[in-house]
Amino acid sequence: MWQTIGQSRILALFQHSLETNKLAHAYLLIGAPHTGKMTLALDLARALNCKGNKPPCSECDPCRRISSGKHTDISIIGLESTGNSGNSKQRVEIGINDIKELQRSANLPPYEGKRKVFIIDGAEDLSTEAANCLLKILEEPPPFVVMLLLTSDERRLLPTIVSRCQRIELKPLPAQEMERVLADSYKVERDKARLLARLSHGRLGWALTALTDNSQLVWRSECLTEMTALLKAGWERRFGYAARISNDRRTAKETIRLWLTWWRDIMLAKSGCEQTITNVDRITEIEKWAQILSVPETRDFIGSLQKALDQIAMNANLRLVLEVLMLDMPKRR
Ligand SMILES: [Zn+2]
Repeated sequence: MWQTIGQSRILALFQHSLETNKLAHAYLLIGAPHTGKMTLALDLARALNCKGNKPPCSECDPCRRISSGKHTDISIIGLESTGNSGNSKQRVEIGINDIKELQRSANLPPYEGKRKVFIIDGAEDLSTEAANCLLKILEEPPPFVVMLLLTSDERRLLPTIVSRCQRIELKPLPAQEMERVLADSYKVERDKARLLARLSHGRLGWALTALTDNSQLVWRSECLTEMTALLKAGWERRFGYAARISNDRRTAKETIRLWLTWWRDIMLAKSGCEQTITNVDRITEIEKWAQILSVPETRDFIGSLQKALDQIAMNANLRLVLEVLMLDMPKRR
């Protein structure tokens, strides 16, 4: 059984390639973080080495060894999970020595399985030297080797690498399908499934991590509560907040992205499209604020938030960007 959920077009393609024995020697799996690239890569690794009747059966010895990370013919290099949640992965540059090691191993036949599978997670982090070395392997791969390159940013890969792989693009799950999967397959109660489906923006992996680790949801809740308090606050409190979050670029960006979802929700509520809002657990509050805020000031502040994100991406002074936001934010007593 495939563990990948919701990518039926991709699974049908792989199923067909497996049955007709026409798999490519290298695939590039493209998708935003937490869209299931690694799950799909491990599915393929299982399918290629499965001894059951319907590969990947997930039950035979090779399938189980791959699932538990013990199969000697499956290698994963690249991103490392950080923290207890594993929700964020640390970027590590994949250097020449990693790829040389891969090359040595790729030239030896499989030890226990049928195919050797090399998974490169975060392939956009290959150093130039490493990418060029990988290119040589991709040009003449040993027949028993399948290379799976995973990336969330295809533009950062060498075009020569991309052209030697078959491109597979993972799409985010539609909110309704995600809600159904969470409720039916993971027994999540309806309201929570609905909230996670919206907040995850179609990334099932994100939703599943949020189920086991509450910290992201707690942060979001505190952050939105603070933001609505700032709508009524004076300059001192607003600038104090700007100073506080200007210590960390990543948190500042995440905060602004979160604010954007709330302000877009206000716009949706004002247009009578409540059924598409993201922050479904705060609908009462959003409807209340939609009555208070006008369309022009909501639209203008959404523009300010987007501009702030652009400026942060261009390395602008973070404190200054945040202070301008505090000045632009509508004010209510
Ligand atoms: Zn199996």
